[in-house]
Amino acid sequence: MSHLDFRLQLVEELAKIYGESKHFSQNTTSSDRLTGRHFPSRIQPTQKKKAPTKICIVCSQKFNEKGQRVRKESRYQCAQCNVTLCVTPCFEKYHAVENF
Ligand SMILES: [Zn+2]
Ligand SMILES: [Zn+2]
Repeated sequence: MSHLDFRLQLVEELAKIYGESKHFSQNTTSSDRLTGRHFPSRIQPTQKKKAPTKICIVCSQKFNEKGQRVRKESRYQCAQCNVTLCVTPCFEKYHAVENF
């Protein structure tokens, strides 16, 4: 049995125990960023800023050739994780890699 099969089976088992699998997608916290359902959403405009941007959390982990932190701004966030992310490639990266 592959690792993925095992995981799927585990989820199914747990879903049976807790009833509908719907319960699972609710109450998501940052700890399940690798398994939860996450979609990019626009950062809500404010009165001051119509298109607000924030520093991407994944990009800010990187350093450029001068050794300075990369400060890349994005207009998108993951509402589930409450973090700012570039749609590509950071959004996928953040949710797919254990230690990005
Ligand atoms: Zn980024
Ligand atoms: Zn997320």
